[in-house]
Amino acid sequence: PATQHLPDIDPSKLTIKLSHELATVPAPETLTFGTIHTDHMLLLTFSPEAGWSAPSIQPYGPMSIDPMASCIQYATNIFEGMKAYMGADGRPRLFRPDLNMARMKRSADRLALPPFNEQALLELIKKLIMVEKRWIPSAPGCSLYIRPTMFGTRIGFGVTPSTSATLLIILSPSGPYFPGVVRPISLYAESRVRRAWPGGTGGHKLALNYAPTLRPTREASQQGYDQILWLFGEDDHLGEVGQMNAFVVLKRDDGSLDVITPPLDGTILPGVTRHSVLDLTRAHSPENAIPGLPADLVLHVQERYIPIAQLVEYSETGTLAEVFGVGTAAVLVPINRIGYGEEGKEIKIEGGANGFGPIARAVREELMAIQEARRPSIWSVPC
Ligand code: PMP
Repeated sequence: PATQHLPDIDPSKLTIKLSHELATVPAPETLTFGTIHTDHMLLLTFSPEAGWSAPSIQPYGPMSIDPMASCIQYATNIFEGMKAYMGADGRPRLFRPDLNMARMKRSADRLALPPFNEQALLELIKKLIMVEKRWIPSAPGCSLYIRPTMFGTRIGFGVTPSTSATLLIILSPSGPYFPGVVRPISLYAESRVRRAWPGGTGGHKLALNYAPTLRPTREASQQGYDQILWLFGEDDHLGEVGQMNAFVVLKRDDGSLDVITPPLDGTILPGVTRHSVLDLTRAHSPENAIPGLPADLVLHVQERYIPIAQLVEYSETGTLAEVFGVGTAAVLVPINRIGYGEEGKEIKIEGGANGFGPIARAVREELMAIQEARRPSIWSVPC
């Protein structure tokens, strides 16, 4: 490619211009998800002549964009979502950030945006986190949400790849994704509108995947549901839960459990949390038990399709034990009610305290222990 000999991202060229007016960091209990930003942002630009610019950490602020820019006209926008946690040792930590960098690179490639060195970008993210360290809430369930964002800035109406781009890292101190105590949420199983389809872009983190979900989600909300359960195919099989990956737990007669999530067939975002839940549950064994679960509990972990009719059947036969959504923002949220069809039919799922079944509770706690470095793990990467 033409970009091959152009300068890549170079962290040694970083310049830091600190803001003169630093905002007051809000009390953790007032935090919601993604409403405020920190004092600084990281900015990089790419041009076909000069490649990646010297990175800059600078005061957060509005930017000017040409009205003919590719991102405005043709939605050449990608993003990532990751979090920094204050470790018990006072060191900020990231959770499996290499997976976010790899996904961001794939997203950029899908929209023909310029490639970049993932390790160099990760190094810069760590530097920004250290500059904004005071913004990382240490209260349980709180963290500093990191939003890497990239968009095409090529000017012109030609529908051609954006040969220039801007890459930003912005940060937002965040409390729980769903406000209040962690509670189960309800879903409407949507079969008229599709989020993703084979050969489409659902497996990439592109802004254009999210805009078309807004109206159906508003309609579901008007019907009293928190999120949409996206379905696909002749059989209306389960896809994702709003902006989370879906998990279903089934009981077998011998006391063992099936832990099931839809396969990565291009319609499912390869979530970092999904990957981690699969890793943890697959590793569950007497020698390596997830704390809170019986060591001899057998989990049959599968990536496979579940048609909505089958989910209804599992519910009617008493096989359905748990349904939950997993993702960076909310970590893991239990589902207690799924509306489907036209006639107000619903699947009800009994949970334990706060709606958590045993798998949901143990897996959520284990993920958070690793993220907050209460449990040592190579997944938790110091800044
Ligand atoms: N699915 C969709 C559509 C998402 O937007 C997200 C959030 N990135 C996820 C699943 C969960 O992915 P992750 O665990 O990497 O946050």
